[in-house]
Amino acid sequence: MLNLGTTGGTEEAILKDRRYLWHNITPYSEQNPPMIAASGSGSWITDLDGNRYLDGMSGLWCVNVGYGRKELAEAAYRQMLELPYFPLTQSHMPAIKLAEKLNEWLEGDYVIFFSNSGSEANEAAFKIARQYHQQTGQPFRHKTIARYRGYHGSSMGSLSATGQAQRKYKYEPLSGSFLHVSPPDGYRRPPGQTLEQFNLQCAQAIEDMVIWEGAETVAAVIMEPVITGGGVIVPEQIYLDRVQEICSKYGVLLIMDEVICGFGRSGRKFGHQNFGLKPDIVTMAKGLTSAYLPLSATAVRKDIYEAFKDSTDEYSHFRHVNTFGGNPAACALALRNLELMEEEGLVARAAVLGERLYEELSELLEHPLVGDIRHFGLITGIELVTDKTTRQPAPLDTVKAIIGACKQQGLIIGKNGDTVAGFNNVLTLAPPLASTDDDLDFLIKVLKAVMNEFA
Ligand code: PLP
Repeated sequence: MLNLGTTGGTEEAILKDRRYLWHNITPYSEQNPPMIAASGSGSWITDLDGNRYLDGMSGLWCVNVGYGRKELAEAAYRQMLELPYFPLTQSHMPAIKLAEKLNEWLEGDYVIFFSNSGSEANEAAFKIARQYHQQTGQPFRHKTIARYRGYHGSSMGSLSATGQAQRKYKYEPLSGSFLHVSPPDGYRRPPGQTLEQFNLQCAQAIEDMVIWEGAETVAAVIMEPVITGGGVIVPEQIYLDRVQEICSKYGVLLIMDEVICGFGRSGRKFGHQNFGLKPDIVTMAKGLTSAYLPLSATAVRKDIYEAFKDSTDEYSHFRHVNTFGGNPAACALALRNLELMEEEGLVARAAVLGERLYEELSELLEHPLVGDIRHFGLITGIELVTDKTTRQPAPLDTVKAIIGACKQQGLIIGKNGDTVAGFNNVLTLAPPLASTDDDLDFLIKVLKAVMNEFA
C-alpha cells in the first residue's frame, strides 16, 4: 500500500502530485487530475480509490506480460542480492545470457549493445551507423532518413529522427542530419491509385532522397516495421521489400525500430519478421522487460560489429557508455520475461487476440465517425473522421471525449497522430499479450457501447 506520509487519501496525493511532479507530455490541468495508480494485476490497474481499469494500452505499449508477475520480481530480486550492479565496460552473466537469447529471438547474427530506453537505443544506432561508415572508407555518410509521423524518442537525436512536428515545437533547431519522407498511409492515398502503386511511390521517395542528397552522404534509414504511435500505419509488403532493396543498392544501413513492435506485439517475435526483412540494426526497449525495469538494446549485425575491432586505432571501438545500460537485475528480469512469453505462448497469443479484436471491431466501420480500422498483431488503430468521403480527421475534442467516456466505464485506450499536421484522430489499442478472453470481451463491449453514444 502506498504510504503518503501524512493523512493520505487521493485528494492529498493529487495536491502533492500537482506540487511536486512534472508529468510526461501531459499539460498541467486543474480540471483533470491524473489517475494515480496503486496496483496492477493481469491486464487491470487499480487506482488509489480502488477503481479498476482494463489497461487497453499496456501502459505505453509496453507491459506485454501484464501486471503483477511475481516471476519477474523474483528474478530481479535474486539478481540484486547476487550482484546488483557491474558496468558493461566489463561483463556479467545476465547480460551475456540475455544477449545470446536476443540473438535467438532475432533469428540472425547480431551483437547486442545495452542501454536504458528506446531513445537511447536509437541514439546508439545512429552513432554506430556513422562510425561504421567512417571506418569502412565512407566518411561522408552521416545523414539518416526517417518518415513523417514516425516516433523514435525524446532525446535530441531520436527526436530529430521523429517525424511529428508537434513533438519538436520549441525544441528546435534539432540535428539537420535527419531527413523525412511521407509514410505509406494507404487510407490517405491519392484517389485513383492502388495501394500497391501508392506504396511503391512512397518507397521511391526514399530512393529519390538518397539520390538527391548523394548516396555517399547517407548513413542509414530508420523506420518502425509499422508506424505505431504515429497512427498505426501498416505498409504493404512491397513497400518494405523496396526499402530493403534501396538500402542494399546504395550501401545505406537499415535500422528497424522495434521499440513497440518487438517482443511479440506483432504476433511474431519482432515486427520485421512478419515481412521477412533482414535489418542491419534493430533497436528495442519496452516489451524487453515488459517495462518492469528500464532496459533497451541495439542489436547490430555481426559483420558491422567487426568494423569496430581494429586494435591498431585507439578510436575504432564504439566510444559510448551509459552507466545503467545492461544493469544485471534488468537483464535477469528480461531473460525471465522472454522465458515467460515462451512458456505461455504469448507471441502466438498476441496474433490470435489481435485477429479477434480486429474482426469484432470491424462492425464499427459502419459507424459514422469511423473511417478506417487497421491492425498489426495486437496493435489496433481506429481512425476517426467527420466525413467518410473527404476523410476529414475528427477533431481532437471528439477523440478525447471518446477516450474519457471509455475511462468512465473502466477502459483505458490511447490516441495518436500529429496535432500540427491535423491528424490526432486515431484511437489506439494495445492490451497486454497475456490478456484473457474475458479481458478482451470487456474491452470490445465497452468500446462498442461508447462508440454507440457518439453515433
Ligand atoms: N521508438 C518508438 C517506436 C517508440 O514508440 C518510443 C517510445 O514510445 C521510442 C522509440 C522511445 O522510447 P523511450 O520512451 O523508452 O525512450
